[in-house]
Amino acid sequence: MVSAAVMPRPGAAVELRRFPAPRPAPGGAVLETVMSEVCGTDVHLHHGRLAGVPYPIIPGHVSCGRILETGGPLADLDGRPLEPGRLVTFFDVFGTCGACWHCLVAKAATRCPHRRVYGITTGADEGLLGGWAERIELRPGVRMLPLPDGLEPEDFMGGGCGLPTGLHAIERAGVALGDTVVVQGSGPVGLNAAVFAQLSGALRVLVLGAPAARLEAARRLGAEDVLDVEAEPDPAARARWVRERTSGRGADVVVEASGVAAAVREGLEMVRDGGRYVVVGQYTDAGEVLLNPHVHVNRRHAAVLGCWGFEYTHLHRGLALMARHRDRFRWRELISREYRLADAGRALADMAARTVIKAAIRPAP
Ligand SMILES: [Zn+2]
Ligand SMILES: [Zn+2]
Repeated sequence: MVSAAVMPRPGAAVELRRFPAPRPAPGGAVLETVMSEVCGTDVHLHHGRLAGVPYPIIPGHVSCGRILETGGPLADLDGRPLEPGRLVTFFDVFGTCGACWHCLVAKAATRCPHRRVYGITTGADEGLLGGWAERIELRPGVRMLPLPDGLEPEDFMGGGCGLPTGLHAIERAGVALGDTVVVQGSGPVGLNAAVFAQLSGALRVLVLGAPAARLEAARRLGAEDVLDVEAEPDPAARARWVRERTSGRGADVVVEASGVAAAVREGLEMVRDGGRYVVVGQYTDAGEVLLNPHVHVNRRHAAVLGCWGFEYTHLHRGLALMARHRDRFRWRELISREYRLADAGRALADMAARTVIKAAIRPAP
């Protein structure tokens, strides 16, 4: 038997439960979990703010583990064997069909209706399909990625799901060499967006967020300037702060990674004429906001783009970029605290209170 932390239903305390030790299906694998994460999504799950979640669930979508057993020979995309003992992460999405209108015609795989996500849309009744567990069951077809040489679990989990999400948002934004990029929100997605904006050739990155520890992290990760939105509650003053740093014009690219609906109107005030705005932070329904379509979109000649989830490619490239740039960007320092499985509830509370930047779960007994 192995232990897992289970979220029984929205609002209920996380509890430790015992499960039979899983065996791999043919083409699948079982991981011994080394680290998983607590992210903003888990806080949303706990508050019941996501539709269609099959409670009780074992949370933890992006995780890292050691291969314990495989159901037959497996290899990564480069043909390297994936054998027991190997340290890996995995693409947490499975079931994307490759055969529906969204997959084939729109080429928007993150909107495939068959897509499922470990730790979010998988129930505890289906098995160990979440990272807050001593072992994780990888279904056949789930793509494993070996951690590149020199990269430790702490490095990778410091990026966590913010790594591919931030990369996807910046790819969507089409950052050009020399751009000024504003990031609204200093959580893991915003911080990773700040990193990938620089790797995409942004000249300067400005971050608006809170609390102070997250803004200090933004500076360490290369943000030229930061604004504490709790110290400056006036949206007009915040937009002015951006314009003062962009010759009065506004930023070439603004990425919303805050989760606050009102931030969208505010962010559009920060975009220059002909600039681009990417919304990645509204992962749950945070409500409505009033826009002036003439001022904010049409006359501004702005491109406004949504960004939902991420695909395998974002995790693959994010991991490779992390291995190359881990000395310049110290992802591992984003982990404020590690928790044992039995303390998952506390980790969740600390994440909700934002007293940590990233909370990591270490399920090893
Ligand atoms: Zn599909
Ligand atoms: Zn996440």
